[in-house]
Amino acid sequence: MAPARIEEPPVSWPVKAENGTSQHKGRPRNIDSIDAVKFDDSLQPKHYDMFGTHPDSRILFTDVNILDSSDRHPFKGDVLIEGERITQVGEVPNIDELKKDRKVRVFHGKGRTLMSGLGDAHTHFTWNGGDLDRLGELGVEEHTLLTMRSAQCYIDSGYTMCFGAASAKDRLDVVIRDAINAGDISGPRYLANAKEIARRDGELVGGITAFADGPDEMREVIRRHVNEIGVDNIKLSMSGEEITEIRSAQDCYFTDEETAACVDEGHELGKRLCAHARARDSVKMCVKHGVDVIFHASYIDDEGMDMLEKKKTKHVVAPGLNWLLATLYEAEAFGYPQSKAEQVGYKKELDAAVAGLREMHRRGIVVLPGGDYGFAWTPHGTYARDLEHFVKLLDFTPHEAIIAATRGVAALLMRGHELGQIKAGYYADCILVDGNPLEDIRVLQNHDKINVICINGRVHKAGRKEYIAPPVSGQDDNKHPIVPDLDLPEMKKDMQKNY
Ligand SMILES: [Zn+2]
Repeated sequence: MAPARIEEPPVSWPVKAENGTSQHKGRPRNIDSIDAVKFDDSLQPKHYDMFGTHPDSRILFTDVNILDSSDRHPFKGDVLIEGERITQVGEVPNIDELKKDRKVRVFHGKGRTLMSGLGDAHTHFTWNGGDLDRLGELGVEEHTLLTMRSAQCYIDSGYTMCFGAASAKDRLDVVIRDAINAGDISGPRYLANAKEIARRDGELVGGITAFADGPDEMREVIRRHVNEIGVDNIKLSMSGEEITEIRSAQDCYFTDEETAACVDEGHELGKRLCAHARARDSVKMCVKHGVDVIFHASYIDDEGMDMLEKKKTKHVVAPGLNWLLATLYEAEAFGYPQSKAEQVGYKKELDAAVAGLREMHRRGIVVLPGGDYGFAWTPHGTYARDLEHFVKLLDFTPHEAIIAATRGVAALLMRGHELGQIKAGYYADCILVDGNPLEDIRVLQNHDKINVICINGRVHKAGRKEYIAPPVSGQDDNKHPIVPDLDLPEMKKDMQKNY
């Protein structure tokens, strides 16, 4: 019962945008808009403790370039982590004693970048990197293992925060969330979802959908997701998706009454809603009725943009841009040629989305990276491609893209006061990067360059070279006047997983 589609009227912002690195200089434009986001206190997600960090543990990073996710340029210094939290940033008192203390784990930064762990605003742990249609048939045991593996892949890629955007089976997301928090398996901090809710004539992939028609049945499904399954987020599948060839991305399948009922029920139960909303009318419904997190928003029009701008402290947008690019340009090897993708509308959608998202960034609407990794041509482990797209297509500076992926996703998790920055008092979720992501944002895509990964004050990854103290000038007959960069590729490879 999709509504008859009218041709989209032109929008008032430039549709053809210049690609390339932003010319913006100075303070990152998205800091204030991220800090201004204020979801109602009643929607604060449950606080999950992560177990397994010894309270007496101390980790010292020396000589690092600190990219702290504030408006400050990266600066040289040292960082001390005690127990679960960062306690000193820049100057660490008693550093000489700490360095000599055998109980302190010391990482010699040698000028590498220390920054917050990354965040993904639209995550599917349960997607298998293959055929989504078959996920419904996959045995729950195999599917649990697959979900666990994706969670591990996120943390192995330097991601420490993820916002669940739908689970292919009811309990997979919550089980994996709880196992991560219990310290049983490794993975990022996670807000779990259940199956996406769609009308019987509006689903994208039937086998992984919770069907509901009309306000009453939708309320019932939401109550079940919250009270029986234990979700943190609720997902509505409101618009179509061109790859289905039967449900257009420009069509909205929800009614006003249904959207209003879902928001009312979800918020009443203290949970936020997110929505697959590509169509113009689906975006407007999200804003009008208060769906907190808007995914995609490709076909937003002038009226929708104005509505969203007025309520920009109550919503964030996570476009999941990599899906559009990869479906259009990189799916051929998987049997989905570019000509086909263009024919069904992905080129048109990408152009509309990029133009609209640039306008959102200009108007101070919060746009966050992440989304829809776990399809065949958007494989797990490639999550940081989103940051490159933000820089190349959306007029974000590299600094703004990193702030969105760290401070921004922390705000989405409603934990901006304790996650997403390198700051005393914050949880020690951080990565040591061999390179400067402000000069080359793509360095974050290279797992070999993410040398150390910490979450909750615990070392998740550190290659062998981190344990070899650098030679000091004056030792070994001065054979090492300059501290060399130890290159141990054959050992490193063994210690790192390939995705
Ligand atoms: Zn998705």
